[in-house]
Amino acid sequence: MVPWTAIERLRDHFGDYVLLVTCRACRHSREVSPAFLARHSPAGWDEPIANIVERLRCRCGKKSVDVQIGFNHKPRGWNKNPS
Ligand SMILES: [Zn+2]
Repeated sequence: MVPWTAIERLRDHFGDYVLLVTCRACRHSREVSPAFLARHSPAGWDEPIANIVERLRCRCGKKSVDVQIGFNHKPRGWNKNPS
């Protein structure tokens, strides 16, 4: 796991990573695929990670989250070749 600042845009590393989002308030964590974020970003795969981290919020409603990048890990529903 590395800090999210290791990546500049969603398309970096060919989208071959996951974002691990951990809430600072309730410690709930979840994995988010770049493909999912690209579908929900105005710039798609060109969206800067900084913008996404800014928008992320936990299911408890808190916007204070830690984001880390994980490589070589495939969560359920992983799509290796997102289009
Ligand atoms: Zn939370």
